[in-house]
Amino acid sequence: MAPVDEGPSESLNLEIVDFIQNLGSCWRCAIRFTRERKPETYQRKSDEFKLEPEEKLLKASPCVICLGLVQDHFIKEVVMDEVCQQVLKFDCDSATFSCMVSLPVAIMLREQAVWFLLTDKFPDLLSKNLKIDYVTSLKDVWKFVFTEPLEKKLNKQLEHSSSPFQIHISILYKDEIAECGALVDICPEKFKHRYNRTRVYREGIFTRNAAQSVLSGLSAKDFQKHYTLKVPNCSAHYGPVQCSHNSIHIAGRYQKFSRTLCQTPWFIEGEKHMDTSIQELICKHLEPFFKTQSVKFSSSGREDVDVRTLGKGRPFAIELIDPHRTIFTQDQITQLQNVINNSTDAIQIRDLQAVTKEQLSVLKEGEEEKTKIYRALCVTLDGSTPTEEDLAKINAITDLVLMQKTPLRVLHRRPLAVRPRTVHEMNATLLDDRPGHFILRLKTQAGTYIKEFVHGDFNRTLPNLCVLLGRPVDIVALDVDAVELDWPPAIAIKT
Ligand SMILES: [Zn+2]
Repeated sequence: MAPVDEGPSESLNLEIVDFIQNLGSCWRCAIRFTRERKPETYQRKSDEFKLEPEEKLLKASPCVICLGLVQDHFIKEVVMDEVCQQVLKFDCDSATFSCMVSLPVAIMLREQAVWFLLTDKFPDLLSKNLKIDYVTSLKDVWKFVFTEPLEKKLNKQLEHSSSPFQIHISILYKDEIAECGALVDICPEKFKHRYNRTRVYREGIFTRNAAQSVLSGLSAKDFQKHYTLKVPNCSAHYGPVQCSHNSIHIAGRYQKFSRTLCQTPWFIEGEKHMDTSIQELICKHLEPFFKTQSVKFSSSGREDVDVRTLGKGRPFAIELIDPHRTIFTQDQITQLQNVINNSTDAIQIRDLQAVTKEQLSVLKEGEEEKTKIYRALCVTLDGSTPTEEDLAKINAITDLVLMQKTPLRVLHRRPLAVRPRTVHEMNATLLDDRPGHFILRLKTQAGTYIKEFVHGDFNRTLPNLCVLLGRPVDIVALDVDAVELDWPPAIAIKT
C-alpha cells in the first residue's frame, strides 16, 4: 500500500489559515486550503470557532475567494429567501431533491491566485507535490453549509446520488466578465476562437472548462503577470433557480370505436385537422392530475383514422414531462381511467398504470416480430360471389410472404421501399345477406398494409387478394381485433 500523505502538520495548517484570512478570506475558505473535508467543521458558526477576527472588516467587503457565498454574514438572507422561494413556487411533491450549483468562473481565478500566493509563502506545500485540487471544493463546502437549511425550508431530503427532482442553482457575480478578462490576456488564442463563435458557445465565453484548460499547467509567474487578487466590490448573488422532475411514464391499452378519430393530433400546415384524437382524449385528464404541460404519446403501431381497434386493445404509453405531482397510488390511476372512459364513446382504455422507463422498451422491441389480427369487410367489384373452392384455397394459405411497395397513399411521408411482410393465416366467410361481400380474418406480421393486400394498390403489393381470387376486390371496413403484445400487465379491478 502506498504511504498515506499526511499533508502539512497541525501547526503549519494554523499558519496557512492565518495567512489566507489575512488576504481577506472568510474562515471557511481559509480552512478549505488545509484540505479539511469534514462537513461538521464547516457547519460550525464562526463565533464558536474564533477564526474570523476580521468579522468587522469583512462586513464591508465579501470574502476575496468565495465572494461571500459561504460567509456567515451573507448566508442568512440569500438561501432562505431567494432560492427557496423559487423552488417552492415549482410546487413539486417529491420527498427528495438533488442539487447542482454552478459558480462564477471568477471564483476559480481567485482560488488560483490564493493558491499561488500560498505556495509562494509555504514552498513546503509544493515540495509535497500538492496541486490546487488539494483544496476542498467550494461546491462541497456550499453543500455542507446549506443542506440543512435547504432541507428544512423545502421539507425535502437532499439525495446525494440522484433524486428524480433536480434543483439547479446558478450563482452569479456582477464583475464576472471584467475579472475573467485576465483569461483572455493569458491565452488570447483560445478566446479569440470562442469569441468569434459566441453563437455556438451559448453559455458564454468564460466557461469553467475553458478556464480550467487555460489555468492547468500555468506557472505562478505567468499567472501573476496578468492577474492580481483584489478585494471584490460586491458579493456573488443567486440567479434563477431551475427545477425539473424526471418524466413519469403511464401505460395501458386502448380500444377505438370511431372511424373518424386519429391517434395523435393531426396538423396540416400548422392547422389542426380533426377536433380531437386518442392522445387528447386521454391526456386532457392526465395532464391536470400530474400537473404537467407537455406529454409524448407512443404506442405499439397505429391504426388508420377509419380503422377501429377492438379486442383487448392496443398497448400505449404516455411520457409526462416535468410533472409536479409525483406521488400517487394505483387506485388514483384507476380512477383516472374511469373518468376517461366515462368522458367519451370513441375510446375505452384499460390496465392504466405507471411503468418504468426500462419497461417501455417492450413497446418498441419486437415491433417487426409481433403479430396482429385483423377483420376486413371486403367486396368483389364485378358483383361476383367467390365460390366454396375459392374460399377453401384462401383458408389453406399459411405464412404467405407479400412484397409490399410503399403504398401510394403514404408515399408522401414514407420513403419508397419494397418490404416483405408475412400473412400467417387467413379465413374468409361469405355474408349471406350481402352478395359479393365477405369477411376476411387475417393474422399478419406487424407493419403489413392490409388495405393494400386486399385491393392490390395497382399491383404494388404482390401477391394480393385480387390475384389470389382471380377477380377485383376492395375493402369496405377494417378492424384491428388483436395486437398480440402482452403489455402492460393486466390490472385486476377491485369490485
Ligand atoms: Zn469565503
